[in-house]
Amino acid sequence: MIPPGSVLGILGGGQLGRMFCMEARRMGYRTLVWTGGLEAPAIVVADEAIDEPFDSPEALKKFVAKAAVATVEFENIPRETLEEVAKWISLHPSPNAVAICQHREREKAFLKLNGIPCAPFEVVSSADELATAMTTIGSPAVLKTAAFGYDGKGQRKLTGGEDPAQVWEEFATDRAVLEAFIPFERELSVMVARGIDGTVTAYDPAENQHRHHILDLSIIPARVSAAVLAEAKVIACQVAEALDYRGIMGVEFFHLPDGSLLVNEMAPRPHNSGHHTLDACATSQFEQQVRVTCGLPAGSPRLLSPVVMLNLLGDMWPDEGVAPDWSSLFADGSASLHLYGKRRAIGRRKMGHANFLGEDVDSALKRAHAVKSELLAKGRSA
Ligand code: AMP
Repeated sequence: MIPPGSVLGILGGGQLGRMFCMEARRMGYRTLVWTGGLEAPAIVVADEAIDEPFDSPEALKKFVAKAAVATVEFENIPRETLEEVAKWISLHPSPNAVAICQHREREKAFLKLNGIPCAPFEVVSSADELATAMTTIGSPAVLKTAAFGYDGKGQRKLTGGEDPAQVWEEFATDRAVLEAFIPFERELSVMVARGIDGTVTAYDPAENQHRHHILDLSIIPARVSAAVLAEAKVIACQVAEALDYRGIMGVEFFHLPDGSLLVNEMAPRPHNSGHHTLDACATSQFEQQVRVTCGLPAGSPRLLSPVVMLNLLGDMWPDEGVAPDWSSLFADGSASLHLYGKRRAIGRRKMGHANFLGEDVDSALKRAHAVKSELLAKGRSA
């Protein structure tokens, strides 16, 4: 067990690392963030930061000398960096688990191998293979780059009739996955923690709604049957077991009209759809990450109140450097504001989120929608 007072190393310095540091500090730990040289919202809340690229040998030396244990807040850390860190100090999750989740081809192969339900897919690495896959998978289908995809980036929907050679040229990648388009009814996600001793703990599933391919609202508990809620937790735990996972992860699902569930993807870290846990659960996803990283027993994932999480994206800002008027959010005594300290609200950047607690999800959703509409009406997107 790594006791409070020790230094926890975090690979990545985004908002997930920032919220991890805040929880770690509350519990008496010290934090060391290695940002990879990117603009990093975690720096100001970490005890110490290494603001250098992930391939710097000096940065590696400093990181492993100071940290007692390490975790990740971002999956696109180069595999070599993860492996180097793991040679010196314990890294939870393991480089192998992160490498599977950071690459769609490996992720899909892992799901298939372990009999975990997912959309039918084919791996393609040329225009000819794409042509064959378009026939096998049928249409509509979604073409996704194998590496570095998130929030719908590196994706294209194919409706049939496209010229595979042209699509492949425009897609400009050397490896991709073509998967069947799933006419889902809802998207769900489950946060699951697995301890160093192999104990798994799953949170209640979230129902997720997107805006421009980016998470907009998470509704917890998800509005599906008890059987579907239970099934989603079971599958999420299976994924964590099959990966021999250590740490916290998000498992995203498509919920189909016939009630079945397909895994879309996994995130080897806290997840945007788990931000409600900061205000609505006995243990937040960030405290859970601290606990399992340090070899402590997991905390209770119990949901204390129905909740709706609203993502606050850059287009809700009247101008890149001008913050919204928060008065209606603050007027709601059961809503809480979380901002990530980013100075410029570029595009649809994730600037923060707000959690709306309620007697039931319908009333929380109504209040979240009212605040969202007002912010959007006064924001740049109006
Ligand atoms: P991803 O980056 O894979 O999470 O995809 C972003 C979003 O695109 C998902 O949350 C879905 O809304 C949508 N999407 C991705 N894959 C599919 C699919 N096979 N069928 C239908 N919608 C999809």
